Amino acid sequence: MNFHPADMRRQDADIEHERRCRLCAAPIRHTFIDLGMSPPCENFISPDRLGNMETYYPLHVMVCEECFLVQLPEHISPQEIFTEYAYFSSYSTSWVAHAKRYCDHAAARFGLGQDSLVVELASNDGYLLQHFQPLGVPTLGIEPAANVAQAAIAKGVPTRIDFFGVRLARELIAEGKQADLIVGNNVLAQVPDLNDFVAGIALLTKPQGVVTLEFPHVERLIDENQFDTIYHEHFSYFSLTTIDMMAARHGLKVFDVEELPTHGGSLRVYLARADSNYRPSPAVSGLLEREVSGGLKEMTTYTSFADRAHGAKRDLLSFLIAAKNEGKTICGYGAPGKGNTLLNYCAIGTDFLDFTVDRNPYKHGRFTPGMHIPIKPVEAIQEAKPDYILILPWNLKDEIVKQMSHVATWGAKFVVPIPFVKVIDPAEHQP
Ligand SMILES: [Zn+2]
Repeated sequence: MNFHPADMRRQDADIEHERRCRLCAAPIRHTFIDLGMSPPCENFISPDRLGNMETYYPLHVMVCEECFLVQLPEHISPQEIFTEYAYFSSYSTSWVAHAKRYCDHAAARFGLGQDSLVVELASNDGYLLQHFQPLGVPTLGIEPAANVAQAAIAKGVPTRIDFFGVRLARELIAEGKQADLIVGNNVLAQVPDLNDFVAGIALLTKPQGVVTLEFPHVERLIDENQFDTIYHEHFSYFSLTTIDMMAARHGLKVFDVEELPTHGGSLRVYLARADSNYRPSPAVSGLLEREVSGGLKEMTTYTSFADRAHGAKRDLLSFLIAAKNEGKTICGYGAPGKGNTLLNYCAIGTDFLDFTVDRNPYKHGRFTPGMHIPIKPVEAIQEAKPDYILILPWNLKDEIVKQMSHVATWGAKFVVPIPFVKVIDPAEHQP
């Protein structure tokens, strides 16, 4: 994959004429939601660049009536996203614990040992593969963002700085590497050439190997109004129905699925080669049936989503306007990608939030893209003693309310924006 500005322009021109589905190439005509224009959500602005122009791209999400893939065109190349990636997975305590449970479980279920190879795609800072080390299972991380890959290498997790697809899969096979387990957590959404990526997975998997993929479930996105999880870096939003079609296109099959609470509600799907010994579990047919009865194979389920997101925007703004009119002070907690979709879509700037805080030191002293809210260390909340704290990574709200329960000493309350505005009093809250 070599993107050049000229290629990107040509691609945008093509999209204007006729968008085609990233997975099945059918023409796509239905809007899922149009969130307007916003800058890339991971482009945190350093103080010296505050006066510069930012590039805004459309966040107009479409849905395919053939395979039901909810999708954004790739206005931004993966190179642009990944050269310096601000997200270090290890900063989320609960996510690292989730990864450890997964590794212990997968090693036991699939009998992984010293002769096995586990490959993780988008292995970030080694937050997951590190847990295979005490089990004696060899691993290889694939991570295109050099800065987070270096953090993995520093902690002894072998990591290749590259993009994954058919090309890299062939290179690894030529080096004698094939995987007993391929892990892809929250990477599928960020792959512009989905078919190349999945074809690479199919190649790299041993004949009886297993692939597990985790991704936010589009059913939950729709049911719980999670429009803020849409951003430019997330090109695709999946149901199990769509994953099943995707697997079949590449000689793979889904043999198990689990529902997880992570990222507002995710699926973990287990794939293997279609001719392998794995037999699909009842969970697979059960969830496929639930998706049908829940309307995920009907266009109206998708096309009616935008009205609910518009309502959530009005609710949040009404709350913030009322609070400011009463003279209350408000700050944010967290500066995640999804926070920036919400802030830009609702046009919430320093007129509402004095600042936000984040545990990731990379973001300290920088400003959120578009709305330019200053990002400070978490301790800034203790100093400012705001009346309300708007939790932007609402999927971690229980963890955050627990960690920050001391704000009750000055009577502060938390506000969760999604699925609709909810105020949490830490003095009363039992996580
Ligand atoms: Zn399609």
